[in-house]
Amino acid sequence: MKTYNLALIPGDGIGVDVTDAAMEVLGAAAKGRFAFDTTSFPWSCEYYLEHGRMMPADGIETLRGFDAIYLGAVGWPATVPDSVSLHGLLLPIRKAFNQYANIRPHRLLAGVEGPLKAEGFDILCIRENTEGEYSGAGGRVHEGKDNEVAVETSVFTRAGVERILRFGFEQARSRRGHLTSVTKSNAQKYSMVFWDEVTRELAAEYPDVTVSHMHIDAMAAKMVMAPQDLDVVVASNLFGDILTDLGAAIQGGLGFAASANINPDRSAPSMFEPVHGSAPDIAGKNIANPIAAIWSVAKMLDHLGEAEVSAAVLSAIEAATAKGIGIRPGLNTTDEITAAVIAALEA
Ligand code: NAD
Repeated sequence: MKTYNLALIPGDGIGVDVTDAAMEVLGAAAKGRFAFDTTSFPWSCEYYLEHGRMMPADGIETLRGFDAIYLGAVGWPATVPDSVSLHGLLLPIRKAFNQYANIRPHRLLAGVEGPLKAEGFDILCIRENTEGEYSGAGGRVHEGKDNEVAVETSVFTRAGVERILRFGFEQARSRRGHLTSVTKSNAQKYSMVFWDEVTRELAAEYPDVTVSHMHIDAMAAKMVMAPQDLDVVVASNLFGDILTDLGAAIQGGLGFAASANINPDRSAPSMFEPVHGSAPDIAGKNIANPIAAIWSVAKMLDHLGEAEVSAAVLSAIEAATAKGIGIRPGLNTTDEITAAVIAALEA
C-alpha cells in the first residue's frame, strides 16, 4: 500500500481543533486505499514562548523531505505579536519551498446560505505567495523618535509574476476559460503596470483563455455584485490575501474557506491549510467549523494524485452540509460536523 509522509503543524487555538478533525476525516478517506505516516510538530506561539523562535533553526530542512505539510493555524496575539508568528513560520515555509501559488476556492456548498443573492458562483482565487507586498523588504530608522521612518518595499520579479500568471492561465484553461488579473495599475505605476504587461504577454500564449484586467477596488465590488461572472482570479500577495477573505465571506464565512500553498514544479512539499486563523475567541470550545480544514485535506489529496478520494471527501462535506449540518455558526459542534462528514464518507 502506498504510504505518504505527512508533516502536521496544528499550530495555535482552533488550528489544533480543526487539524484533529481534518486528520480524522483523512484517516477515514484513506482506509484500505493508502496510508499516511504522520509526524506532528509542536511549532506554535507556545513553542515560541518556550524556545524564542517559532520553529527550530533546521525546521525548513526537517520539513523538506515530506510529501506534504498540513497546517491548522498559527497566531496568539495576546502573547506573541502576529508579525513574529507569521514571519517565523508560515511565510518562511511558503518562500523556502517555492509554494508560489496560493489557491483558494470560493463557492457555496450545498445547503450553505451566503450573504449574497447570487448563489451560482464558483471562483478560484490564485494569490501570489512568495513576494510582492509581503516580501519582508524594508526597515525602520529613528525608532521611537519624532522623525521615525518605516519603509516597506514591494518586490515584483519577472520570474515571480510570470510563473503565478502562467499557473493562473493553466487553471483557467482547465476550468471555464476565463482569467481576471487584479492590479491597481492606475495608482501603482511601476509594479502593477509591469504585472499588466506580463499578463498581456502571456495572454498571447493562451488564445483559448479570455482575460479581464480589473483594479482591486472594482474587483472587491464585483465579488459582491456579480461573483457568478468570475472564474479564475489572479492577484498579488496582499490583494489576494484581502480578496480571499471577501471570498470566504460570500461563501458563508471563514469556516468554509480552504486553501493550498502549491509548489507547482513539486521540487519541495506543498502546504495545505484553512484560510482562517487561530480564532482565539472560540479556541478549545469545540465550536470551530472544521469544513475549511477538511476541504483543505481534499485539496491535499488532489495534489498527491488521489483525485478520486479527494472528490469523495468533497462529496462527503456536501452531503453533510446538504443535510443542514455545520451550515451556520453555533449550529453544531466541531465533533458533530466531523462525524457527519465521516458518516457520509463511509455510507
Ligand atoms: P481568525 O480567522 O482567526 O478569526 C476571525 C473570526 O472568524 C473570529 O471571530 C473567529 O471566531 C471566526 N472564525 C475563524 N475561523 C472559524 C471557524 N473555522 N469556525 C468558526 N468561526 C471561525 O482571524 P483573526 O481573529 O484576525 O486572527 C487570529 C489569529 O490568527 C491572529 O494571530 C492571526 O495572525 C492568526 N491568523 C493566522 C492565519 C494562518 O495561520 N494561516 C490566518 C489568519 C490569521
